[in-house]
This record gives sequence, C-alpha cells and structure tokens, in this order.
Amino acid sequence: MNGIAAPPAAQEVVRLDAVRKVYGGPKNEVAALNGVSIGLGQGTFTAVMGPSGSGKSTFLHCAAGLDRPTSGTVMLDGVDLSPLKERQLTKLRRERIGFIFQAFNLLPALTVLDNVTLPLRLAGTRPKKAAVNEVLERVGLAGKRTSRPGELSGGQQQRVAIARALITQPAVIFGDEPTGALDTYTAREVLTLLREAVQWGGQTIVMVTHDPVAASHADRVLFLADGQLVSALERPTADQVAEQMTHLGAWGNRTAATAPQAGHGVHR
Ligand code: ADP
Repeated sequence: MNGIAAPPAAQEVVRLDAVRKVYGGPKNEVAALNGVSIGLGQGTFTAVMGPSGSGKSTFLHCAAGLDRPTSGTVMLDGVDLSPLKERQLTKLRRERIGFIFQAFNLLPALTVLDNVTLPLRLAGTRPKKAAVNEVLERVGLAGKRTSRPGELSGGQQQRVAIARALITQPAVIFGDEPTGALDTYTAREVLTLLREAVQWGGQTIVMVTHDPVAASHADRVLFLADGQLVSALERPTADQVAEQMTHLGAWGNRTAATAPQAGHGVHR
C-alpha cells in the first residue's frame, strides 16, 4: 500500500510523497524506504511501528530532515525540504521541529531551566519567563527548575526533554522510542503528557515505538514492513497493535536464531 490517506479535515504538517531511501551500492543496495507516501495532519499523534529493519528510523530521519531521501519529496509545515541547503535545514529543524529521544539527551551540567530554554537561546531568542513557567508547569517540573538531570528520575528527565521540545512551539515533535528507557508506569505518565500536548495544545507528534501499549496512545498507528507502509490502525487497542505486530513479526524475525536454513525459504 502506498498512500494511506490522512484524516480529511486536518492540515498536513508532514507530507511524504513516493519517498525512497536507498543505502549501499549497486551490488548491496538496500531500500530502507521504498515508496512511502503519507500525510500527517496538524494536531494528530501518530505512532510508527514495524519489525526491526522495516525502515522506522529511516522514516523518522527523512521526515524530520535529518536525512535526505534518495528520491521523492518531504514537506514539513508546507516547506519542501529537498532544495534546502544544510544550513537552512538545520535552521528549519531548530525552529520548527522538536525531538524526544529514548536516552533523553539532556546536558548534564545544565539545570532543568537551562536545558529547557536551550533551543530558544540557540536560536538567538530570549526565553520569555511566562512561557517557560507555563511549559514547566505543564510537565510538572515547576519545582525542579534548578535541579540537574543527574538528580532526576528517568521519567522526570524525559519530562524535561518534552518541555525542551515544546518550548519552541514546533510544528511537529518527533519521538524516537521516547518511552523505551522507562518503566511501564512512568512510560504511561509520559505518554499521557504527549497526548495532552496534542489534545489541549494542538501539537503534532510522530513517535517510533516498539511498544504496542505506547502506540495505543496515538490517534493512528502506521505499520512499516520492508520499507513500505503496509497498514494503519485508527485509535487501536494495545491488543490490536500487538496482533498486527505479530503478523508482521513473522516476516521480520528472520534473523539469527529464527532464520530458516538455506533451502527452506520463507515465502511471502
Ligand atoms: P528500523 O528502524 O525499523 O529498525 P532502519 O530504518 O534502521 O529500520 O533500517 C531499514 C533498513 O535499512 C535495514 O535493512 C537497515 O539495515 C538498512 N540501513 C539503515 N541505515 C543504513 C545505513 N546507514 N547503511 C546501510 N544500511 C542501512
């Protein structure tokens, strides 16, 4: 399936058309993405899932302008990324995109306040006190502004990272396994926070995850297999997501221990 339609009314903040990303040379070519077309509406929360090696990271990197597709186009907030020079891309990422990573990626020497306001200062903008206070309140860290990341729990650190992503009011926040390093309870808190940013703040969020429970917090779950979007579920339960993953996993688990011996080929 090439084009899974976006919800009709919402304006598309992220748009990929016929995106292909090929690694390697002519002899060992791997199409990490192989003709992906998708639109992600403003104020929506999308999870991207798929077996290991299905192209999730490549999707995220291409959609976020961290990597350039071999062919096809990526539009971000109405801007075509392909003609942009590296400096323009960096500027666009800094101003229009927020990132949340599994490993939080906070600066250990800086306080919570300085970590959160760093993107503004990098962009040469003076942080507005009211806006900073509001975002710290929203993530429940108003009392921790002078703490350093090392003094915080994993969940609190990820909330700092979310505040840092929200502070620039980006067109879209990309999450790369944002709950991957958290326990179930803390992960749910973080996902609820992301959900609230979408619901109350109109934030657009795209998150790669392995976790069906995490994906079930999204409005829509997109499934990748072998570099292609193969299905999508709207507001699914974790069980429905897990079932779909099991289905795709049967294809994706052909590695090391489970790989069939030569001659026993797996047919698809
Ligand atoms: P996922 O995130 O779903 O595990 P990736 O997007 O990381 O999948 O990778 C998709 C495919 O592209 C895999 O076959 C992977 O080996 C290949 N790939 C990804 N990055 C590179 C790279 N830099 N060089 C060569 N192959 C790559």
